[in-house]
Amino acid sequence: MIGLYVHVPYCAVRCTYCDFYLVPGRGRDLSAYVEALCSEILAVGREFPGRAADTAHFGGGTPSLLSASSLAAVIERLRSAFTLALDAEITLEANPEDLDRERLLGYAAAGVNRLTIGVQSLDDHLLRLMRRPHDARQAMASVAVAKSSPLRSVGVDLILGVPGQERGPALAAIARLADLDVDHVSLYLLEVHGKTRLGKDLALGRRAPMDDDEAARLYEEAADLLEGRGFEHYEISNFARPGHRSRHNLKYWTNQEYLGFGPSAHSYVGDRRWANASDLRSYLACRGEGCGRVEDDRSRGQRAIEALLAGLRLAEGVELADLHARYGPDFVPPDEAVIGSMADANLLECGAGRLRLTRHGRLVSNEVLERLLPRAPQLI
Ligand code: SF4
Repeated sequence: MIGLYVHVPYCAVRCTYCDFYLVPGRGRDLSAYVEALCSEILAVGREFPGRAADTAHFGGGTPSLLSASSLAAVIERLRSAFTLALDAEITLEANPEDLDRERLLGYAAAGVNRLTIGVQSLDDHLLRLMRRPHDARQAMASVAVAKSSPLRSVGVDLILGVPGQERGPALAAIARLADLDVDHVSLYLLEVHGKTRLGKDLALGRRAPMDDDEAARLYEEAADLLEGRGFEHYEISNFARPGHRSRHNLKYWTNQEYLGFGPSAHSYVGDRRWANASDLRSYLACRGEGCGRVEDDRSRGQRAIEALLAGLRLAEGVELADLHARYGPDFVPPDEAVIGSMADANLLECGAGRLRLTRHGRLVSNEVLERLLPRAPQLI
């Protein structure tokens, strides 16, 4: 079954590390955007009639800027345009400051059953440095109220490797969240982009970046902590309690089809891939219908490599025979001698036609992939 992705390109404020395309949105009337989304969903539903879907994922941006009634309208439109499975996973990415009990009950009534909360840190100093609009107290309160709501699955996103972040408090924060019984944790290593405020501060020496080895050690300790508390490290950046893996994101990592709605959303159906134009103003002007699509004209060989890279993100790795079956001679597997040397270095495992990164390999995944596929894009 296909996955459905709905993009919400608004945020209350821009975080200092964020280089996404977005529009400041708190207090803004989002009804025109919701109407445009609903028309686009209807039009795409006509283009792919009768398609069955088993996931819907609201990402951004900050989708929790949408009221429960707006969200309900969009989910209703997804249900009418596609055959959404009764047990579909419906996920909302949310910021802590948007969540209270009433809002969460509204989201649950609209059909949301999975929430990921952008906690990022429980250190108020670091939250201010990242210009997050919430503090640690609000973050913990939002997780607690979400866990006491009817939502089936509650996850948190955290960032490691922030300048000035200390090992002890970072690990203690993860333990506190695990104690709140969260079902899923996404741990991201900070990526620094030169044009962001944080990137400029680092370039000008106003802040000192965390050393790469220190960040990798912190990541490893955080992974140990979560695995010790019953989480499965099922993907490079993601940990889940049994039964709580992201079904939607698994579609991206296992080369399955999806349709995206909203500016800059990507779609993949059959042999076609495309992205909606990212300009919000023109998306609103054309009311979500017939706005520009940018077709992805990468070769099948490149796509096969991307599928290999995506599969290597998973703990279980990737079946090379699947890629051969799907892409035929367009799939050129990595050099066996290179695989062998990396297996000897305990970075890769290859058995029964399945290639996977070892735990050590996952920690240095970018280096491994550069050696494995010298011209491929970076994994994380
Ligand atoms: S909430 Fe997310 S998308 Fe919005 S500015 Fe912050 S990092 Fe970027």
